[in-house]
Amino acid sequence: MNDTEQNEKRWIPSLVSQHHRQLHWVWKEEISEWLPSLHSEIDAELQRAKSKFPDWPTDPIHAFAIVTEEFGEAAKEVLQLTYEPKKSTIERIRTETIQLAAMAHRFLESLDRYEFKPSAQHEQQ
Ligand SMILES: [Mg+2]
Repeated sequence: MNDTEQNEKRWIPSLVSQHHRQLHWVWKEEISEWLPSLHSEIDAELQRAKSKFPDWPTDPIHAFAIVTEEFGEAAKEVLQLTYEPKKSTIERIRTETIQLAAMAHRFLESLDRYEFKPSAQHEQQ
C-alpha cells in the first residue's frame, strides 16, 4: 500500500462487535462488505414483522407511533448500557436499532397511502 492509499483510508466506527462492548474500528473498504449484511438483516426483520403483523395503520400518527416505540426501545438499551451496563449489551442495541430501521422502512413504504385527518378533540377544564 502506498502513501496515497494509506492517506485515503479513514477509520469508521462500527458497532458490529457481538462480543465486545467497546467500539472497534474497521477500514472504510470493509464497510462495503458489512453494509449489505446489515441491509439484509433489516430486510429480514421487515419481512418478519410484516408476516406477524400484515396490517399497517392508515393514520400516519398511529403509524409513526410504531416507529417511535422502536426508537424508545433502542434508546432504552443505549441508556442502560451506558448507565446500567449489566442490563444491556451491544447486541441488544443492535437488535432494537434494526427493528427501528425496519419500522421506519414500513412507515416510508406507505407515505402515499396515509390519510392525514385531524383527530376528534375535546376541551379540558
Ligand atoms: Mg423492539
